[in-house]
Amino acid sequence: MTDKGLQDTFGRQIRDLRISVTDRCNFRCLYCLPETEEASNFYRPRSEDPAPASATKKIRYHWKPRREILTYEEIVRFVRIAAGLGVQKLRLTGGEPLLRPHLPELIHALARIQGIQDLALTSNGFGFQHQAQALYEAGLDRMTFSLDSLNRERFLKMTGRDGLEEVLQSIRLARSMGFAPIKVNAVIIRGLNDHELPDLVAFGRQESVIMRFIEFMPLDAGKAWQREHVVSRQEMLNRLHQDFTLLPLGQQHAAETAQRWQHADGQGEIGIIAPVSSPFCGQCNRIRLTADGQLRTCLFSLKEHDFKLRLREGSSDHDIAQALKEAVLSKEKGHAIGQASFVQPERTMSFIGG
Ligand code: SAM
Ligand code: SF4
Repeated sequence: MTDKGLQDTFGRQIRDLRISVTDRCNFRCLYCLPETEEASNFYRPRSEDPAPASATKKIRYHWKPRREILTYEEIVRFVRIAAGLGVQKLRLTGGEPLLRPHLPELIHALARIQGIQDLALTSNGFGFQHQAQALYEAGLDRMTFSLDSLNRERFLKMTGRDGLEEVLQSIRLARSMGFAPIKVNAVIIRGLNDHELPDLVAFGRQESVIMRFIEFMPLDAGKAWQREHVVSRQEMLNRLHQDFTLLPLGQQHAAETAQRWQHADGQGEIGIIAPVSSPFCGQCNRIRLTADGQLRTCLFSLKEHDFKLRLREGSSDHDIAQALKEAVLSKEKGHAIGQASFVQPERTMSFIGG
């Protein structure tokens, strides 16, 4: 094997590692971890059949037992090896990463690894306020929050929790503390929150945060995804151009997932992440480590590479580096959403780490 760090067979150089620190979550977003079958079939009120009574029973998720979750020492060792092979960006996610006890300790250790240039966290923002200062002092560079609605009832319907006010406060606190830039993700789903697009753009502008609109992907635990629920990038843009003058921004780097625009007066930026209508697989430089130590070379991978076993069964750093290089060689050319050959992975977004 030639020594090009982590390069796949399509010449893509891996620079970005996303780490899920827990598969658990305190929210029940209906596009991710729906609380009930009824919630996962959120389009049912518009269809002919009434929901059966069993559909309102809470779904029981099977979280990985704690002994199967990587320890902080294991994560840090893995990242040190990956950084030695050219990984520069880290994003901690989950599940809800803030649920993992003592998260600032992990951040403190990761931020000091040679080669790591950017350390970000994606969170639903619930409970952020109790940890914000410790996260900041530990060396966290950036925060991304998720916020799908500015309407209390709709927020509750989409996340299963009455948490809008708290999430808004978290976003404002993060901004006042100096986390920058702050990004706010909203998954846009037809008939649910697509009519809120202009309000969400106005919110981003007013609060000086970057809104990122994400197309709904078939990674929901309820397996209720249907193409007709996806609001494509073009549709989102058409809608936004009715209210705003948005000018396209160039790419900051080749592997950028979002296409970006800014308001004509330069005040505020939005991005659209369009993996369904406009896949960006050709430039993808990301790999993912699940909370239980499985490496995934694509969100939609059907195969995982077991690094927990290697980390726990005495493999040397050299052996782990070799295994990582080999795993990256199997990185898929791209996903097949929308094609007849598409198979939804068994593990869904919260278990993979979004
Ligand atoms: N719990 C944290 C949060 O919600 O920000 C981090 C994990 S969550 C899985 C990461 C991101 O994935 C969130 O912004 C969420 O909106 C997004 N996501 C989850 N399920 C999705 C789906 N089916 N399609 C598109 N995005 C999804
Ligand atoms: Fe939890 Fe995030 Fe999934 Fe919502 S999107 S259920 S907050 S992991």
